[in-house]
Amino acid sequence: MAVTGKGPYDPQNVFAKILRGEIPCKAIFENEWVLAFYDIMPKAPVHVLIIPKNPYVSFMDFSQTAPAEEIAGVMRAAGQIALDLGLEENGYRLVTNAGLHSGQEVPHFHIHLLGGKALPAFPA
Ligand code: ADP
Repeated sequence: MAVTGKGPYDPQNVFAKILRGEIPCKAIFENEWVLAFYDIMPKAPVHVLIIPKNPYVSFMDFSQTAPAEEIAGVMRAAGQIALDLGLEENGYRLVTNAGLHSGQEVPHFHIHLLGGKALPAFPA
């Protein structure tokens, strides 16, 4: 069920459990700011989720409250992961769902990185 993306952070959400090592994931990148791992239900040949290590409910929360250094660190990591996966030449898509109308399901801010094929016209 979609979440509002507002309100207090729920430490029992699935990505919080992944960050604590309570649920396994197929990690591909980690640094001081982010963990990135493959989506369990991929919507493209490459579908990676990039999440901050700190507890932000949604993009709104992250963009409005995270220190500038952390915002830069997360975005830099997203670009680095796209490079590492060899997506630069043919391109890729970054998406973040925020709140009810977007269909955000997991109340921990995350960026979807999609690639590996020609993606459907936006929105998709
Ligand atoms: P939506 O499900 O509408 O895409 P989100 O933007 O909140 O909403 O995306 C949550 C994503 O997390 C989904 O793509 C889903 O497949 C993925 N996901 C859920 N649980 C796990 C998990 N344990 N490991 C990896 N990905 C997961």
